Amino acid sequence: MSKKKLGLNTICTHVGEIKDKQFKGAISPIYLSTSYEFDNVDVKRYPRYFNTPNQEYLVKKIAALEHAEDALIFGSGMAALSHMFLAFLQKGDHLVVQNTLYGGTSNFIKEEFPKYGIEFTFTDGYQVSDFEAAIQPNTKLIHIETPSNPLLTITDIKAVADLAKSKSIITSIDNTFASPINQNPMNFGIDLVMHSATKYLGGHSDILAGAVAGSEDHIKRIWNVGKNLGGSLSDFTVWMLERSMKTLALRVKAQTKNARKLAKFLDNHQDVAKVNYPGLKHHPEHQLAKSQMHDFGAMMSFELTQGIDAIAFQKQLNLIKSSMSLAGVESTMLLPSETSHALLTQEERDALGISHQLIRFSVGIETFRDLKHDIEQALTKTKTNSFA
Ligand SMILES: *Cc1c(COP(=O)(O)O)cnc(C)c1O
Repeated sequence: MSKKKLGLNTICTHVGEIKDKQFKGAISPIYLSTSYEFDNVDVKRYPRYFNTPNQEYLVKKIAALEHAEDALIFGSGMAALSHMFLAFLQKGDHLVVQNTLYGGTSNFIKEEFPKYGIEFTFTDGYQVSDFEAAIQPNTKLIHIETPSNPLLTITDIKAVADLAKSKSIITSIDNTFASPINQNPMNFGIDLVMHSATKYLGGHSDILAGAVAGSEDHIKRIWNVGKNLGGSLSDFTVWMLERSMKTLALRVKAQTKNARKLAKFLDNHQDVAKVNYPGLKHHPEHQLAKSQMHDFGAMMSFELTQGIDAIAFQKQLNLIKSSMSLAGVESTMLLPSETSHALLTQEERDALGISHQLIRFSVGIETFRDLKHDIEQALTKTKTNSFA
């Protein structure tokens, strides 16, 4: 059976399973061995070579979900990203990178690249013209992030991929926010897709991992860096990730469905000034999102109206947790100005459009009416307290 023909839930459940031939157990066994019999194959099995049975099989599932030839898994999303950058950039090369970027990615570029003599330009915006303007003769890689954090802007994946191809530049995307269930960037010509598997792929807020998917050649280049840097993922975590990914499509679809309803509810609420969700018709890139995403995802952000204290509101929530991370089955909220973007100056935050009233919302799988009720009661209590 060709993998392309398998349905999403079948891929999630079965692709990359290890058959337990000895005992015929229903699930993949964990192979913790760090030593394997020597035979005359090209690549010897050794955990640091990313080729233990559990690693070798799980990447089949990730590659199938991203319509890629191959993939590699790492100890974190940042490890996936740093290996990918170091595989395609060397001294004297230049990276073009989207300005609205996961904070850890910006830090890695700003703090580590100068040590390696790698040049970089952050774009002024996320339009294709912004990427074009940033390209230099020595540009080797363009890296994008869409939907972006925390404002959910949408970058035109195909336009950036086409621009890069016309200049023989490789492209990469951070596909964490959409997950492979809602977006497959390789369909639009992107070369490398990375994930913080800590988020949707793991989905239960209990795994730190990362992944990159791409062509066999590209993955081989990253593997060459990886075996030297030596940071491969423990097989316990690989096994946990395989287990979690069996329900990836079920979870993400349930989360996305809740998010669509909650975005509408918030959008119509008198105490909410603005909702950033690509599924809403008034989102500036709604049509673009529709053309490149399978669905609009389960991340959004919204601004409370002036006079409602966002910190006080968050404290009144009973069900929705306050959390730094995202994408678990449980709904969480975070104030970017107090957390993820706290280290920026007020001016920098203003330039990015991140106000004190902005709340990022990672929607979980709970029953919709319970989430709606939690938000309603928290708003009522916050207003009652402030006017008392
Ligand atoms: C969390 C996150 C990362 C980093 O992943 P870690 O697993 O924490 O290393 C990268 N990109 C995005 C969009 C993220 O949300």
